[in-house]
Amino acid sequence: MQNKLKELKQKFISNLKTLKVEEELEVLENNLLWKKWELNNILKWIKDLNVDEKKTVWVEANKLKNFIQEEISKKKVELEELKYNEMDEREAIDVTINFPSKELWHKHPISITTSLMEEIFISLGFKVEDGPHIEIEDYNFEKLNIPDDHPARDVWDTFWISDDINKNRKIWDKYLLRTHTSPVQVRTMLKWELPIKIIVPGRVFRYEQEDSRHTCNFYQLEGLVVWKWVTFGDLKWTLDTVMKKLLGEWVELRFRPSIFPFTEPSAEIDISCQICKQSDPNCRMCSGTGWVELLWAWMVHPKVLTDCWIDPEVYSWFAFGIWIDRIAAQKFWVNSSRMFYQSKLKLNEQF
Ligand SMILES: [Zn+2]
Repeated sequence: MQNKLKELKQKFISNLKTLKVEEELEVLENNLLWKKWELNNILKWIKDLNVDEKKTVWVEANKLKNFIQEEISKKKVELEELKYNEMDEREAIDVTINFPSKELWHKHPISITTSLMEEIFISLGFKVEDGPHIEIEDYNFEKLNIPDDHPARDVWDTFWISDDINKNRKIWDKYLLRTHTSPVQVRTMLKWELPIKIIVPGRVFRYEQEDSRHTCNFYQLEGLVVWKWVTFGDLKWTLDTVMKKLLGEWVELRFRPSIFPFTEPSAEIDISCQICKQSDPNCRMCSGTGWVELLWAWMVHPKVLTDCWIDPEVYSWFAFGIWIDRIAAQKFWVNSSRMFYQSKLKLNEQF
């Protein structure tokens, strides 16, 4: 009987040595201790032994069982270490490797402009927020006071996620590519952490006919301030300050009244064209008018705040939006913002 126990021990030790992965160890453990439990098969014969022999074999069998369990635990740790070491080696990043020389990489003009704008707004006390490119209809339209039958939906015609995914989703819960960064404003308001003073730079998507100023995806930066005693004057000062810091003291801003469904009152804001300095009737960027529409601004519609559970009787607010690519075009004297999306190395290498 004791020989059989010894054989089993030897068999276990030699099997253990050849194991390479955790799954094999589990099989071995299962076979020896639990499922078939070879020890059990041996112990079946114990009843034929005398009392002393029974006791000795029982003690030996238990020792073997403990030994197997201990060795299996040790092997488990060993195999895990091996697995993680291999993973470390495979996924290691060598931070000492030299960064590619400046000639091989260039920051995109839109990234440069976004970083500059973020720096300026942060210096004015704004926080930077981010959100998903794929949004639900509720946040992109409904909560912004743009219901399904609102004509403004035509202006923001968008790309919907495939029918296969959307068909089983409830109305207002369908997925689309966000047409503006405003859903992030909604998400922020729903957190109800006042005061709110945020900017949201990011990529947005429109189903657009492309020309020198319009592309089917572009970058915008929206801002939102919600607190007590916020006025349209604060909004005007903020945008004037930011534009002057960004493009130079000589930049002029022109506010024009406008209508947006989720805002009241609203304005579209032009800046004096930096490419032609308001002197080229053939300028493609300003179409010869001397002004380029770069921003929009508004006091948020009370219904939008109510929908986000903020009391419009207590709080006031303003919001604004800026076309980052048009700003980049003005800043770097590029006469069509569409060029930023055409992977033109000749253009990008200049930055
Ligand atoms: Zn111009």
